[in-house]
Amino acid sequence: MKDEEWSNFCHTIDQIYQSTKFIDDGHVADYIPQLKKANPNLYSISVYTLDGREYHIGDSEYNFCIQSCSKPISYLLALEEHGLEYVSNHIGKEPSGCKFNSFRFNDENKPFNPLINAGAIMACSLIKSKERDDLRFDHIMNTWKQIVGENNVEFDNTVYLSEKLTAYRNTALANIMMENGIFPEDTDIEKTLQLYFQACSIKMNTKALAKCAAMLCNGGIIDSKKVFSSEICKYILCIMYQSGMYDYSGRWGFDIGLPAKSGVSGAIFTVIPNFGGICTFSPRLDKNGNSVRGVRFFTELVKYYKMHMFDQFSSNMESKKISINNETIYDIGTNKSYKELETHLLKSGEDINKTDYDGRSLLHVLMDEKKYDSVFVLLKNNANYKLKDRWGNSLDNKQCIKIKIVLLYYFKYKMTLKSYFSRWK
Ligand code: GLU
Repeated sequence: MKDEEWSNFCHTIDQIYQSTKFIDDGHVADYIPQLKKANPNLYSISVYTLDGREYHIGDSEYNFCIQSCSKPISYLLALEEHGLEYVSNHIGKEPSGCKFNSFRFNDENKPFNPLINAGAIMACSLIKSKERDDLRFDHIMNTWKQIVGENNVEFDNTVYLSEKLTAYRNTALANIMMENGIFPEDTDIEKTLQLYFQACSIKMNTKALAKCAAMLCNGGIIDSKKVFSSEICKYILCIMYQSGMYDYSGRWGFDIGLPAKSGVSGAIFTVIPNFGGICTFSPRLDKNGNSVRGVRFFTELVKYYKMHMFDQFSSNMESKKISINNETIYDIGTNKSYKELETHLLKSGEDINKTDYDGRSLLHVLMDEKKYDSVFVLLKNNANYKLKDRWGNSLDNKQCIKIKIVLLYYFKYKMTLKSYFSRWK
């Protein structure tokens, strides 16, 4: 994004913030005693883009407990550990059409999806279930730290205790699921609920949650680290799109058209494909349990910017291609010399591990084009040679061994890579 476009965008965020900050409709959630104490006037908006730009306004340093915004990450952790097939034996992928804490289950007596309470409790039962309680929570916390930064996550013990003390409904839900026999064998309900309440009591600010949304937008990569595979990110984004906003999800998908997750503490984090993430926080909720100002903010935003996913539906494929500095990965791979890669791309701070719709990174394209000098430059800059494309190809197989040997020879005999590779065939 050009600097001018970015500053116009930030200006628009500012304007919408100013025009929505006086809305005082709605009520702070009160069914968890500690949530009742929230200051209803807090309001912040944070933006985190794929090219690493950030913009924050309002109380963006204020840490709140994330409540249901923890659910997408708990589901991803379960998926990462067990794979989709196993997890789907326990949690469905359909919108529920019921309240988030409803006692209704699908035809197989399973939770409809991982974003309602029953589904999130089930997801927690699947996370490192054989480990000690402290290690299980550590695993969730460490994942959040990887996403948003070591010092940007806290735990709210008072919310945790308060939720645990009043957890009549969630305990009932877990008992019904136990009665239905859908938990994995040997599940300890009490420990499972404990982990679920702990995940809901994790605290951070809108800066951090916007970064989490950007990670999901970027196929699981943030700060050049792969936290989750792009495949499972795609799964949770689908579910967020259809079920992330409580009983407003259908209307949200229609009007706003973006995957999002809302929590009863007043946060909404939203993923904007090919752009990044935006998070709002304001504790007053509407009758559906979504932040009033948050919903209004996004409703206004999509009037200014065509961010609705289906706004792009009619445009040609060209505009859908994933780009690095506005050039497609394929074009960079085929047209740029290794010198250009060194002087422009690597210095621009862009993520050189971005992948296109086929999961192909620059390294994949360069190998196909036999541009080994460029491959060399990327590997020297720690490009991830383990990334698999849609067909499961990575350079982490024999090709990569070739490259490593070539690098050794290169240093030893200073021979040109091209001449080396031409001998190989
Ligand atoms: N911990 C809350 C509960 O179980 C989460 C609710 C939410 O944010 O939707 O009720």
